[in-house]
Amino acid sequence: MTTTTLLTRIALDDALVAEDHAEECGFLDPLDRITCPVHRRWIHQCCHSDLHVSQVSGHRWCRPCKRALEVAVDEVLGTVALRCPKCARGSHTRADAQLITACEASLAAASRAVRRAA
Ligand SMILES: [Zn+2]
Ligand SMILES: [Zn+2]
Repeated sequence: MTTTTLLTRIALDDALVAEDHAEECGFLDPLDRITCPVHRRWIHQCCHSDLHVSQVSGHRWCRPCKRALEVAVDEVLGTVALRCPKCARGSHTRADAQLITACEASLAAASRAVRRAA
């Protein structure tokens, strides 16, 4: 168990460094990152934070309702869903799709690290 945790950590650290670099060099859109430059975690582990709500870009934001979208991360199925608590809409904007793609990729990367350790 300790080994698993350690290897997952190393995988995360590697991904963070690689994405920091790619973003700085202009190769990577910050919103395509699968690691979070603020929380230093996999994006699916911290996308629930208010810091990940952006009214400007529409990420985790329902514009008509002016409400933050709820995120449901299913670690077993490896899926991520968004939902507006007011109008109950699911994901349909490009920002939603971008966030879900990033979260599902980070889920996959994190579970790959665990499987490698097992
Ligand atoms: Zn974060
Ligand atoms: Zn809404």
